[in-house]
Amino acid sequence: MKKRIAVLPGDGIGKEVTRGAVEILRAVGERFGHQFSYSYGQIGGGSVDELGTPLPDETIELCKGSDAVLLGAVGGPKWDRLPVHLRPEKGLLKIRKELGLYANLRPTLYYSSLADSSPLKREVIEEVDLLMVRELTGGLYFGKPSERMKQDGRDVVVDTLFYQKSEMTRVIKLAFELAKNRKSRVTSVDKANVLESSRLWREVAEEVAKDYPEVIVEHMLVDNAAMQMVRNPKQFDVVVTENMFGDILSDEASVLTGSLGMLPSASISESGPYLYEPIHGSAPDIEGQNIANPLATILSVAMMLRLSFGLEEEAKAVEAAVNEVLKSGFRTKDIASVGTKLVTTTKMVEEVKATI
Ligand code: ATP
Ligand code: MG
Repeated sequence: MKKRIAVLPGDGIGKEVTRGAVEILRAVGERFGHQFSYSYGQIGGGSVDELGTPLPDETIELCKGSDAVLLGAVGGPKWDRLPVHLRPEKGLLKIRKELGLYANLRPTLYYSSLADSSPLKREVIEEVDLLMVRELTGGLYFGKPSERMKQDGRDVVVDTLFYQKSEMTRVIKLAFELAKNRKSRVTSVDKANVLESSRLWREVAEEVAKDYPEVIVEHMLVDNAAMQMVRNPKQFDVVVTENMFGDILSDEASVLTGSLGMLPSASISESGPYLYEPIHGSAPDIEGQNIANPLATILSVAMMLRLSFGLEEEAKAVEAAVNEVLKSGFRTKDIASVGTKLVTTTKMVEEVKATI
């Protein structure tokens, strides 16, 4: 199989972890006989310094002409005082918009060897394997008006929650599609007892569910979902929800099983390419020290193999290698504990590569 991959390392440890992840892609290509090619693009603070913009047009074109995009991370204290349009994060928002990425997928997976770094008891998180699907294009974050104003001389404020029904349908469908290859359970999260948008959301979920008789669907109010997530996260398979609820719940879900350095993500569009990135940021505090955990980005590559290229066996090989390396006791600093073997970023990558 031939595939073109756009690589956007970005800032801070973004460079180190994408370098590692590309090595893993190369190893997969060799082992399974695929031809992956890599083209590099600029994004973020480095791009502001060199080109005067956090996202040059060349990068947008590069991504649009590729089969998948691998992103590291952007930002850092160096660029925090720039005017808003020059902030590195603007580059990220713009590339999401340019590529039409409408859903963000974050798997949370239990690793028995990392159970000690979870804030929850082992019994609670054992076997957790859930996938958060968050709508990215609508809802409160983009509704207009969003402003402060005067009403009868009083200060008031308004934010608008706006959704097209079609935006709900496509992300809920995606969740059902993904559930088919998992445990065939979808939990649709809303606040249908209070919000009109949530009542429509629930209707759409019921409508979509009719096309997937093999998938069990459950509706849950967001406040209850937030509680269930820490009380009994094992009950969830695929969780789908609108933008703001998803923002909050996906951060909650991400800490269940331990470290930030372990968590991958994928962002999905209607016609591709999809974008893959670790959920962590550029971690300026550990930049350039060769201690960053590359596994979140390596696991993002596994998601790329599965979702963009349909290479399930290859994706499993990467995930199994990560598991194997953890079981053998190798740890970067962020996940190290007593009795484990502390290794650098590059050594961790080598171990995963050798295992593949
Ligand atoms: P952003 O706003 O870009 O999300 P942030 O300020 O939330 O960034 P991160 O850059 O993700 O934060 O870093 C948070 C903490 O986690 C830092 O102390 C950082 O060193 C650590 N960290 C993040 N990613 C990793 C990683 N891959 N390996 C090790 N430590 C990490
Ligand atoms: Mg953050």
